[in-house]
Amino acid sequence: MPKFEIVPGLRVVTRDAWGANGNYPRLGAKVARSRRTHVFIHHTVMVDTDDTPNIWDRDADIFKMMRRLQTVRAEDLGADVPYNFVAFLTKGGGLTICEGRGEDRAGAHTKGHNTAAVAVSFAGDFHDVDIENIEVARRMPLLSFFLGWLKYSASHEDYGDFTPLKRLGTLQPEGRRVFFHRDVKNTDCPGAKLEQHLKQVDFIDPEG
Ligand SMILES: [Zn+2]
Repeated sequence: MPKFEIVPGLRVVTRDAWGANGNYPRLGAKVARSRRTHVFIHHTVMVDTDDTPNIWDRDADIFKMMRRLQTVRAEDLGADVPYNFVAFLTKGGGLTICEGRGEDRAGAHTKGHNTAAVAVSFAGDFHDVDIENIEVARRMPLLSFFLGWLKYSASHEDYGDFTPLKRLGTLQPEGRRVFFHRDVKNTDCPGAKLEQHLKQVDFIDPEG
């Protein structure tokens, strides 16, 4: 049941580790890692209402939200997390990445890009809910390391040896490294409070 740290503060939690409900198996067609060319960023628009919105204090809340995401759009997107990964801003400046469909399956997030793109969705509402700029900005280097980890390694001693997604990031929008959902659809996703900081995101090899 792996949870592992890529660099300090950047943690990956697999489906087993967050307790995916086995009644809703992983969905999406198998995709070869060599086919992944780009990254789409979303937000879930589902907020942690207990305390600071968009900052997740407790693993129990994170894992509960992941189980909610398995069924929240069951009718139209299928009964599984529609994204490849979900990113949670955690207390103290960390970033926890929970496995959704993962590295090897198509998603149900962005029409026309569900196979070639990897989707990372930020848990929370980054359009309508206020969050301090610094809280987002300080965690963007961790997102860069996660994307770099996928591209250059995708392996870890507590996870296993895998083939990296080496073409990831070869397709980029004008002026930044990752796509926003609203680049291809009339939507606020991933939200203005996230977008301004995503411009600094890159594919950085954590071993680099
Ligand atoms: Zn979206």
